[in-house]
Amino acid sequence: MQKIEICFATNNLHKIKELNSLLGEDIQLLSLEAIGCTEELAETSPTIEGNSAQKAGYVYEKFGVACFADDTGLEVEALNGAPGVYSARYAGPACKAEDNMDLLLQKLEGKPSRAARFKTVITYFDKDGNKNQFEGIVNGHIISEKRGTNGFGYDPIFIADGYEVTFAEMELSEKNKISHRALAVKKLVDFLTQKG
Ligand code: IMP
Repeated sequence: MQKIEICFATNNLHKIKELNSLLGEDIQLLSLEAIGCTEELAETSPTIEGNSAQKAGYVYEKFGVACFADDTGLEVEALNGAPGVYSARYAGPACKAEDNMDLLLQKLEGKPSRAARFKTVITYFDKDGNKNQFEGIVNGHIISEKRGTNGFGYDPIFIADGYEVTFAEMELSEKNKISHRALAVKKLVDFLTQKG
């Protein structure tokens, strides 16, 4: 049987490798480079859903291939959902994860609620242009000091509900089983493998 080829609209080859192993033999993921897309994908939407759809939609429109894209943000209740779609650049355009965490901790000082959630949205366009979105959410809270060195981004200050360690204190393999991204990816994989 011929493999179904789907482009994953990301420049993160690690993500492509990880998903390829989850998708089984019948589906082959292609990188942006493999389909000839060398430009930076715009992310100018004010929402996570919008950015995810913008990236996948661009690739579908321009290259006409089945494709999907992901977008993730940390939504903090006491900050009306900030940093949300701006999670990567919360403290400025070229900021580091440390700066983002420091700013968030500062903004949360004295706030009664520290509830937060990570949200990933994957947008998939099939070869006929049909669009589906898959969401993965992990609820939790923000602690007041960084703990742990694994992971990336806001991991040292986020504890998922039902856990006592931060994402940065977890083994990566453990985090990858329960994370927002893993939940969204699982929904996508179920959708793709059921469709055959
Ligand atoms: P992206 O859409 O996957 O590039 O994620 C956007 C930003 O959200 C990242 O730059 C991080 O700041 C944050 N982020 C996404 N996923 C995670 C995670 O699993 N742990 C901590 N921070 C994350």
